[in-house]
Amino acid sequence: MTTRHPHAPLTALAFALALAVVVVSCGGGSDDESSGAPPTPADAEAFLAEVNDTMLRLGTASAQAAWVYSTYITVDTEALNARANQAYIDAMARYAKEAARYDAVEVTPEQRRQLDILKLSLELVTPSDPELAEEVTTLASRMEATYGRGEWCPEPNQPDACLDIEEITEIMATSRDEARLSEAWEGWHTISPQMREDYARFVELANIGAGELGFADTGAMWLLKYDMPAEAFTAEVDRLWDQVRPLYLSLHAYVRMKLREHYGDVVPADGPIPAHLLGNIWAQDWSNVMPLVAGGGAGPGYDLTDILERRNTSATEMVRIGERFYSSLGLAPMPDTFWERSLFTQPEDRAVVCHASAWSLDFKEDLRIKMCIDPTAEDFSTIHHELGHNYYQRAYNHLPPLFQDSANQAFHEAIGDTIALSVTPEYLVEIGLLDRAPEASDDIGLLLARALEKVAFLPFGLVIDQWRWDVFSGAIPRTEYNAGWWDRRLRYQGVAPITPRGEEFFDPGAKYHVPANYSYTRYFLAHILQFQFHRELSEIAGCDTPLHRCSIYGSTEAGSRLDAMLRMGLSRPWPDALEALTGSREMDATAIVDYFAPLKAWLDQQIEGQPVGW
Ligand SMILES: [Zn+2]
Repeated sequence: MTTRHPHAPLTALAFALALAVVVVSCGGGSDDESSGAPPTPADAEAFLAEVNDTMLRLGTASAQAAWVYSTYITVDTEALNARANQAYIDAMARYAKEAARYDAVEVTPEQRRQLDILKLSLELVTPSDPELAEEVTTLASRMEATYGRGEWCPEPNQPDACLDIEEITEIMATSRDEARLSEAWEGWHTISPQMREDYARFVELANIGAGELGFADTGAMWLLKYDMPAEAFTAEVDRLWDQVRPLYLSLHAYVRMKLREHYGDVVPADGPIPAHLLGNIWAQDWSNVMPLVAGGGAGPGYDLTDILERRNTSATEMVRIGERFYSSLGLAPMPDTFWERSLFTQPEDRAVVCHASAWSLDFKEDLRIKMCIDPTAEDFSTIHHELGHNYYQRAYNHLPPLFQDSANQAFHEAIGDTIALSVTPEYLVEIGLLDRAPEASDDIGLLLARALEKVAFLPFGLVIDQWRWDVFSGAIPRTEYNAGWWDRRLRYQGVAPITPRGEEFFDPGAKYHVPANYSYTRYFLAHILQFQFHRELSEIAGCDTPLHRCSIYGSTEAGSRLDAMLRMGLSRPWPDALEALTGSREMDATAIVDYFAPLKAWLDQQIEGQPVGW
């Protein structure tokens, strides 16, 4: 059972799933080893068979309940979904803890890997003491609920005037009034100071649980999911960041210069960019400031939304086009049930969760997409992305359920985005949606728009877990939570608040993934990997255009290399999967540098003589 979400902002379904993952109650201890004899290899085999069977049974039941809930929201479907999901999560949490019993048993490498995956499958391990277990699950639900209910009430005596995250997001995206932006930014950050004490206690208790499973702390446990020692992996992350940092610095300097032209002295000439002026409450995606920073008339040179609207392209037709992309790579089409059971348009007669997701309901062929498709360029690209999840899920469906996932947490998102990078003007020409590709002179607009989304995200993708690893390890004490947060946001992103943010605040709590305890490094890595995959597949496809103009559409060679990696699922350490596609066992951020090379040259011209860095 997997549902996948294309973007970091999460909706009700993701909330429900993430909450369930967090709210693991397994203090019951019903499965204490009752016999004194040490477990045998046969016991280990039987245990894994039971785990895989249970995943299939409860995972399928949970996915079915979740599907019905998300496509037909009522109080009853919500209750059924919560129940089925809880049953699945409880069972898996119990198994994750039991897996440690087989640490000393001699088993095959495949069995050892399954046991390791199981042990590392939890984001939160509850302590074995039932009271502490209940306390930590209560804290987790309370923090998540606090976030979910979060509102900014500018007029305390007018509750109707309160603004929720969607309304604040809209202000951050569209307002150009500095005072209004500052007010909205501070307003949203009023939701989190009340989480501060909860979070500090949560960290203590989560670390007790992780410690009982033999991990140094919760952050160390998250790091071990990446098939290498924790220090080696953090060094890898630093290395990748160093590769892309010069590109980020150029983008940062250029955007700062343009924002200063618009907003004046509130934006320093050579210091950090004010955190509230980048079009997004967390400054994690700068796409919304494109109109302020683009040179005269810069844009991609065509308007796909306009084309789709004019052609009256239906939602199903858009998905068919996406499917044809994968068929052109030599991958088998989606099964009939995909077309019968997916949800492509928002029904008029009932409430649904519209946030796009891709599903495998039965660990086999029952693949579906749930998405309220509009004829827009964004949705067109998202369809290609979501289908990437479905093709991945089907490619590894021959493996035991414990191996049915991507090579590491970043790979699933990276695959969908890799394919979306192939939605180029040339591809649109080839499938007849566009008459001719825009001139190379329009490239800067296309690349700048993409960099504001993808390059601007990179340091943010690092910050959250850089802060959390240090919080869980104790390197950031609870008396310095907010200082530690802003220290890292300054160091990596080069953004800063314009008013003092002392320890009376808890600004990390204003980002969903912190109260929801959902690890975040996967998003940084997915952004790196998608360009590495794209560069490699482009080469295999024999592209002779710049990377940002290359589509692998029609290349069965690229398709079979892609498939070789997808088929491995989680059965091998991720460097093996990476090697199957790229021939290299190392992640490499130089692909993102190559992709944006024309933009980097242009940015450096624009900022000549201007300060770079902060
Ligand atoms: Zn996705």
